[in-house]
Amino acid sequence: MTSHKCKLCRALDEWDLGHYDERMLRDWQRESGRKGYRTLAKEFNTMLLRRQMDRAGVSTLANEAESRYERLTGDDETVAHETREVLQREGLPIDDLERSFVSYATVRTHLKDCLDAEHTPTKSDGTWTTQSIEIASEQAQKRAETALKSLATDGEVAIGGDPEIDVSITVTCSKCESRVNVERAIRRGYVCNCGNNFDKSGTTVNE
Ligand SMILES: [Zn+2]
Ligand SMILES: [Zn+2]
Repeated sequence: MTSHKCKLCRALDEWDLGHYDERMLRDWQRESGRKGYRTLAKEFNTMLLRRQMDRAGVSTLANEAESRYERLTGDDETVAHETREVLQREGLPIDDLERSFVSYATVRTHLKDCLDAEHTPTKSDGTWTTQSIEIASEQAQKRAETALKSLATDGEVAIGGDPEIDVSITVTCSKCESRVNVERAIRRGYVCNCGNNFDKSGTTVNE
């Protein structure tokens, strides 16, 4: 391991979870059912939440930790706020937890730079097209991080710790102005409804 410490390294230290690296590496590198950065980030964050729920004596049966994590980080701010309040009342260190939650970009940095690990892309990783989107975000993230660090060194930008850059590529439809993350659009198969000339029954919709 190098001296580089990312946010995930610090979270592993802080919550005494050094052994978690092994599991993450295994899930990332295995041939079948390989987990991507987003899944790994979500699993790590959920695991942090579950441990603290256990510690506070809150039931984690029936995927309670998973569903609370979804609510806490979902798009609905009211739901997120309510979930945060419930967790706080139950005695969880919610501020510390949220500070430790990592993004997919951090998982990538951690695996590739801190652990110096690699994985051989397999067929299940998708085509070159989706891979090139991943590579593009990765390069953008690294360049922005380097640039920001150098600006910080020069005293042009003030930042307390290491900057965590999260790059996400967004597509906007020029017609209806819907915006969606490009990976999400690929996963679900459309950007917006006007790109869909077919309704769910498969017949053409007249405009
Ligand atoms: Zn790290
Ligand atoms: Zn549209």
